[in-house]
Amino acid sequence: MTAVLNNSCASFAAVSGADLQVPLVDGTSCTYANFDYAASAPALAEVTARIAELLPYYSSVHRGAGYASRVCTAAYEKARVTVSDFVGAQPDSVVVFTRNTTDSLNLLAGCVPGDTVVLDIEHHANLLPWRDRRVVVAADSIAETLARIEVELETKPAALLAITGASNVTGEVLPIRELAQLAHSHGARILVDGAQLVPHRRIDIGDLGVDYLAFSGHKLYAPHGAGVLVGKQDWLDAAEPYLAGGGAVRSVSIDRTEWAPVPARHEAGTPNVLGVVALATACEALALHESAGSISHERELSDRLRDGLSSIDGVSLLTVWSDAPDTVGIVTFKVDGYGPGEIAAYLSAEHGIGVRDGKFCAHPLLSRLGHAGGAVRASLGLGSSGSDVDRLIDAVRTLATDGPSWTYEEDGGWWNPVPDPRPFPDLVDGAAGVGSPCATQTVSIAS
Ligand code: PLP
Repeated sequence: MTAVLNNSCASFAAVSGADLQVPLVDGTSCTYANFDYAASAPALAEVTARIAELLPYYSSVHRGAGYASRVCTAAYEKARVTVSDFVGAQPDSVVVFTRNTTDSLNLLAGCVPGDTVVLDIEHHANLLPWRDRRVVVAADSIAETLARIEVELETKPAALLAITGASNVTGEVLPIRELAQLAHSHGARILVDGAQLVPHRRIDIGDLGVDYLAFSGHKLYAPHGAGVLVGKQDWLDAAEPYLAGGGAVRSVSIDRTEWAPVPARHEAGTPNVLGVVALATACEALALHESAGSISHERELSDRLRDGLSSIDGVSLLTVWSDAPDTVGIVTFKVDGYGPGEIAAYLSAEHGIGVRDGKFCAHPLLSRLGHAGGAVRASLGLGSSGSDVDRLIDAVRTLATDGPSWTYEEDGGWWNPVPDPRPFPDLVDGAAGVGSPCATQTVSIAS
């Protein structure tokens, strides 16, 4: 482990791309400062090593008699146990491997026997899949928001309360135990969208009373295409399979299909064994990093970032609540006089800093907060360092006080430096830039 305690100038753990050199518009280059962990996190060194170890055995899962196939099947099923232990799943729960959080939530949405209550702050992935959804507008405090959810559940029964563990826009963490009690006391179950929480806080679903949890490997330092839905088996067993196909069945004749129970029922097709093993390895590594103090390291960095940015004249930070008990390392901000796309392009082109700009697939929240035009999000994780944080603060201060040194222009919703002399590496030589679909299309609560 490469943990360096009490020294927030160093990163906490080794991740892929830590020494990546990126070109700047002035013809120089610098080490990339990645502040886009909330979108996709780099691979932990432990994950990269485990995948390299498994690759020579790469073969079919659940089907072959060959030695390599047996090894892959064992690795796949061992990963299920690792993930189950990591989240504290109870015996009546099952781990289903999916592609990502979006996939997990869509799967569960097909199994819910009734209405789903959600907040208007949710990522589109935890808003759009629920067919019979009832949206509660969050209040200015968490206490009042809980009261509004209670009124909604009292007024009309719901089968499920689907709620994020941590906002992907502000990083604010919700009180999961209280929400689980609230849902249960009104006869509903609770699903936690753990996409932003699981990479940064330990969550024991058995202890907290959470019925379902969804998260993504690519945000958990395992960018190999797997995700998780873990939770109570009964709804999942009672529903039609999410995907019909090989692996999801007990027997098939021309006119009759007998579906398998979960997890196979919802895992049709060839499983992503590399992705699943990467995800489980990340869970093991995260548990070790957390016992070595990674959570307080990240807290220190995100406090430093929040304090530094809010001390700059003309910079404002977005929050939903006045009383959030905890916040993960996500800071969303605006700079007076500059649009989010221009700020992000400036940070990349002149400082080698990667952030996300736009509406973060949370259009209803951004509109309600008065930021329908979007904002800039800086998010950090295990590979972030205090010097990265200082670089970002200094770069934003320079923009707010002196403005950019280069020219930036918008083209189809995507801001670029003009001219942009930065070459792509050979592996994408000749590729054109692409815009962000979440930044350019609109979602309202009613649509
Ligand atoms: N939920 C939240 C809170 C997120 O932040 C995201 C992605 O940013 C998702 C769900 C969807 O995750 P994925 O794109 O991995 O399916």
